[in-house]
Formats: sequence, structure tokens, C-alpha cells
Amino acid sequence: MLHFGERVGVAVSGGKDSTSLLFVLNEITREHGTKLYALTIDEGIEGYREEAVKNAEKLAESLSIPILVCSYKELFGLTLDEALQERNEKMAKTTSCAVCGPLRRRSIDRAAEKLGVNLVATAHNLDDMLQTFYINLYSGDLERIKWLDPRFKSTVAGEEFKLRRIKPMIEIYEQELAFFAYLNNLPFQSESCPYMNEGIRTEIRLHLNELERKHPGVKYSTLKTVLSIAASINAGSGNSRPIMRCGNCGAVSSGPICSVCQTLKLLT
Ligand code: SF4
Repeated sequence: MLHFGERVGVAVSGGKDSTSLLFVLNEITREHGTKLYALTIDEGIEGYREEAVKNAEKLAESLSIPILVCSYKELFGLTLDEALQERNEKMAKTTSCAVCGPLRRRSIDRAAEKLGVNLVATAHNLDDMLQTFYINLYSGDLERIKWLDPRFKSTVAGEEFKLRRIKPMIEIYEQELAFFAYLNNLPFQSESCPYMNEGIRTEIRLHLNELERKHPGVKYSTLKTVLSIAASINAGSGNSRPIMRCGNCGAVSSGPICSVCQTLKLLT
């Protein structure tokens, strides 16, 4: 995933997963000529994000890694709290995470651009991968299941963004990452986002945890299946998904108007 001399942006939210990722990448890239940068996105969630940002800054400073903090307010003109207040009737059924997700992905792209990094590493773990798979399975979204294939993302990013994305921790259980962060005294925020329970993700998470408790290893074997399914869909479709420029902001988009512009238009 990493090549000599690359400039790598590490998306650090200040939680256990991303602080562990920054810590580990710092250890393993020290002698590889790799330059690490921490990217932190401040969504603007009062009473929650402030502590996480401080933790990210504290860790980056202790590892002598430059950190760039970008906020939704600065990039889009409103905080997530403000955006959620603005949800009009048309978006009443839209969960907070569905509003937040596209803004966060765009924020990471912008932060990566500002830093001039070659690739961005995110801290998605095994549990995240499985939850995302089931969410897309239940909503019948094959396209997004295809995105779970690491090769698909690299190909698209390579052609259009010139920015690779990697997820080095998708084979690691969430619990193990929490244990790792704790054992290494990493400063991380243990509190969860106040909006996280609106969608179906938490129910899937609890279900998978219960399955794993009764049948140890089931999550890991499911991940292998998920990756095979994603790769098969990918191979079958030949990466044929059309990529275009958003007619409004010019960003790379899967439709005539990108999801960020659609979201912001509905909010304002
Ligand atoms: Fe955004 Fe949802 Fe994550 Fe909260 S849990 S930061 S709302 S994506």
C-alpha cells in the first residue's frame, strides 16, 4: 500500500481507530522516506468534536507529525449541528450520517489537496466494513458494495483524483484497536458521536457483536466473503461506472450534480 518517499495523509478523527493508525504508520514508515501528515475534520458537533480534535492534535504533536484541521464551517459555511437544524421536510427522513458522510469525504479530499499528499489512509476497521456491507445490502446498493473492493477505489482514484485511498486496518477488529490504543496510552476519545444511533448501523453492529460472541471468528470469515463479493461485482462490471464532473462545483461525481452540492442545496 505504501511506497518509498510518498506523502501520506492520515485521516485522524481523534478516536481509537485513527489514533492507532497514525501511531502504527509512524512506527513502520520512519525509515522508509515516507512523510506523514494528519488530517482532521471538525464537523462542528458541539460538546463532542472539540475533545477529539484536541486528542488528534496532542498525538500528532507528540509524534512530530504536522496536522491540518479543516472544519465544515470553513469549507461549507455551516457546522454539522447547523446543517441538521436546517434539514427541511424533504430531508426529514435523511439521517445525520447521510448528511455528514458526503461532506466529510469532500473535506478529506480538500485537506489532502491543501497538503499535496499522494494518498490518504483511513482507519476503517473490520467492523466498519461489515456494517457498511450490510447497510448497502439492505438498501440494495450494489454499486456501493463494489466500492468495498480495495482495487476498485484505487483504480477510480488513480484515474481521476490522482489521490489514492488506502484502508490498512480492514482486517482488524474494532475491539482489538481499542485494546491497542489503551495499551499504548494513546489519547483517544471514547465517547460516541451523539448522532450515530439514528441509522441502522448501530443495530447491525450490535447484531454482529452478538454473533461474534456466540461464534468467534464469524466476523473475520464474513469479511473474506464481503471482499470476494465486492471483487466479483467489480470484475463483472469492469469498473464501468461513469465518472463525470459535477455541473455545479466541478468535483468528480457519479452523477451530473455531486452529493455534496445536492445536500447543500437541500439544506439552504
Ligand atoms: Fe458524522 Fe455520523 Fe460520524 Fe457523527 S456518526 S461524525 S454524524 S458520520
